[in-house]
Amino acid sequence: MSEIDNLKKAILENYPRLSNDDTFQFACRPGVPCFNQCCADVNIFLTPYDVLRLKNRLKMDSDDFLNAYTLLPIDEHQNYPVVILKMQENEIKNCFFVTEQGCSVYTDRPWACRYYPVGLASPKEDTPADQDFYFLLQEEVCKGFEEKRQWSIREWKADQGVEKYDEFGQLFKEITLHDFFKGNKQLDPMRMEMFHMACYNLDKFRRFIRESSFMKRFDLEAGLMDKIMADDEELLRFGLHWLKFALFGEPTMKVKPAALRGDKP
Ligand code: SF4
Ligand code: SF4
Repeated sequence: MSEIDNLKKAILENYPRLSNDDTFQFACRPGVPCFNQCCADVNIFLTPYDVLRLKNRLKMDSDDFLNAYTLLPIDEHQNYPVVILKMQENEIKNCFFVTEQGCSVYTDRPWACRYYPVGLASPKEDTPADQDFYFLLQEEVCKGFEEKRQWSIREWKADQGVEKYDEFGQLFKEITLHDFFKGNKQLDPMRMEMFHMACYNLDKFRRFIRESSFMKRFDLEAGLMDKIMADDEELLRFGLHWLKFALFGEPTMKVKPAALRGDKP
C-alpha cells in the first residue's frame, strides 16, 4: 500500500471526525518558527478549480501551466487521472510559488493549502455513518497548534475563502465518487483523456468544443455556447456536466436528432 493509501486508511479508521461546529486551536503567520516549511516536499493534489485559478493567476494557457507546474502520476490502480503540484528539483524540494514572504499566489492558492491543517474526507461507503467529515492533520513540523487562536471549522473555512472551491469540489466529487467506479472499475484510455481535458485542460477543451463536431452533436440551451467560450468557470461547470454523459452514459446532454440517426456532420 502506498504512503497516501496508508494515510487515507488511518484517517478513516482512527482520526477524530469533526463537524462544522467543532473547534481547534491554531494560527499560521509570518513569525511562526516553521513558516513556509509546509510548502516543500509535499504531495498537493490539484482539483480542476485549483488548476483554473492558478493558470489564470499566472496568465498561462492550460497546457503550459500543466507542463510547467504539475505532475501526472501514472498508477495502474488509478481509476481516473489526478494532477499533483510539482515541487522544485532542489534539495528542499520547495513549491515553485513559495517566497520568503509566504505564498506568492496566496489569493489563488489550492484547496488543500487553504484548508490545511483541516482535511475533508469523503468515505463514500454504503453506511449512513460514512458521510463526509473534517479532520485535523497534526504534523510535527507545524507549530501553528501552539498558537492561542481558537477556530470552529466553520470559521476556519470562512476565513480561508473556500466557498467557491467547495462548490466546484462538490461537482467534481459527483464524477470521482460516481457509482461507475465501484469495484475499482477504471476508465478506458479514451475516457481518461476526456476526463483530463474537461477537468484540467480547459483551454484545450474550449478548442475541442469550437473545432470538433461537438456543436453539431449536441443541442445546447440558448446563450450557453457564448458563456462557456468566454468564462472558464462556466466552461468547467459545463465540462463536469458533459463528463457524466461522456464517461457514464447519463442523459445530461441533449443529442441532436441528426447525430442520433448517424448522419454525417
Ligand atoms: S501553493 Fe502556496 S501555500 Fe500551497 S504549497 Fe505552494 S507556496 Fe505553499
Ligand atoms: S507548518 Fe503550520 S504554522 Fe508553519 S507555516 Fe505551515 S501551516 Fe503555518
